[in-house]
Amino acid sequence: MEETKKDCRAKKHLCDLMADKAAFEAVKEAAKNARFICKACGRTAGKAESLCDPLSLDA
Ligand SMILES: [Zn+2]
Repeated sequence: MEETKKDCRAKKHLCDLMADKAAFEAVKEAAKNARFICKACGRTAGKAESLCDPLSLDA
């Protein structure tokens, strides 16, 4: 098995939080101010560190 470099299910990523219903609202808030999108899974967030493979939407 080869190691996964970018794991979208890594803890603290919005990608993972989306699976948690309680965190969904927080993710929604973050998405409202989305400035980055995850190239791996397509989630959006206001902070790059919330995503596993962030791409700036401002660029
Ligand atoms: Zn992701």
